[in-house]
Amino acid sequence: MATPLLKESASKLKKAIPLMLKYQIPTTPTNYALWYAYVGAQSPMLNKHLDTVVSQYNTCPPSQSERLYQEFLSDPVELDVIDMRQNLDAMVTELSQSIKDTNLDANLFKSKIDSNHIKLNKIENEGFTIEEVLTVVKSLVNDSNEIRVSAQHFSEQLAKAQSEIDALKAQLIKTEHEIHFDALTGSLNRRAFNKDLQAILEQHPDGLCLIIADIDHFKVFNDTYGHQLGDQVLKSVTKRLNEACQNGTKLYRFGGEEFALIVPNSQLRRARQLAESMRRSLEKLVVKDKRKGDNINNINASFGVAEFILKDSVNTLIERADKQLYEAKRLGRNRVMPI
Ligand code: GH3
Ligand code: MG
Ligand code: MG
Repeated sequence: MATPLLKESASKLKKAIPLMLKYQIPTTPTNYALWYAYVGAQSPMLNKHLDTVVSQYNTCPPSQSERLYQEFLSDPVELDVIDMRQNLDAMVTELSQSIKDTNLDANLFKSKIDSNHIKLNKIENEGFTIEEVLTVVKSLVNDSNEIRVSAQHFSEQLAKAQSEIDALKAQLIKTEHEIHFDALTGSLNRRAFNKDLQAILEQHPDGLCLIIADIDHFKVFNDTYGHQLGDQVLKSVTKRLNEACQNGTKLYRFGGEEFALIVPNSQLRRARQLAESMRRSLEKLVVKDKRKGDNINNINASFGVAEFILKDSVNTLIERADKQLYEAKRLGRNRVMPI
């Protein structure tokens, strides 16, 4: 049974696909997203632009598709891209299923025709029929031949569409993953942070604490050892911090050399202790510069900690943790605030 989401997606899909075929639009994820948004009339401006392009070219050239996608669909604040991707995924699942069903039907159809074909050929070959009957039989053989060829063609087309859909699905899964993870360190990113923090604030914010950590004088590592080694330091710091996460605490790369930790069901004192143990663990971290053979062993970070209070929003909570981080920097770095 299709869920309401699947049904809605499928109905939009049924409108989008014929348009894409009509204007010979390649079935890429970008184009699916674009035409799906078009039939859903998500953005009147997008529809206006797409109408103009199509009336001019009678298709939508790849460069224009890319431009419209960037302008109207790639900004997650403007349109809920994640939501759309989920829809797209649902739509692909639906299409995939219906194609699988049709593919089975087509194969069945083909085998029936094949067996008819054999029977008819037999009657014809045995040659005991009168001339008129033979004529009819001959035309039947012709007809069935034609159907057989077209069924074969149809089945091939469906199999091709099926493999395209499978590739699209794999790509969507990859994109969904990429949306929430940071490419360099592999840790969760700021978008995931906002989503998770918002969800906790809405559901069970009591005892929620936030830690923001910022590597001290990180710019100096880059300037002294190069950007590549800076990247290596970021990866090693991520690994260290992750190892120290426990009891549902999650690490996020917040910005360049800044990290955030969401500590659920805790209290300020305990979150401070966690930050303090992370700080000490980073002090002991050694990163090897393979090219120069140097050991980098002066990696420090400052930490700001805040606990949820009534009426906190994502922003007010971040602000308080940020303020503490700023204090830690001001007081000389490599420390946790508040004391
Ligand atoms: P402070 O102790 O006040 O935090 O000093 P800082 O040098 O750490 O802070 P600042 O904000 O001056 O510099 C941060 C540096 O981080 C600048 C930027 O080039 C670097 N950075 C940001 N993202 C990356 C990254 O992905 N890789 C590397 N190698 N460097 C990065
Ligand atoms: Mg810094
Ligand atoms: Mg910083």
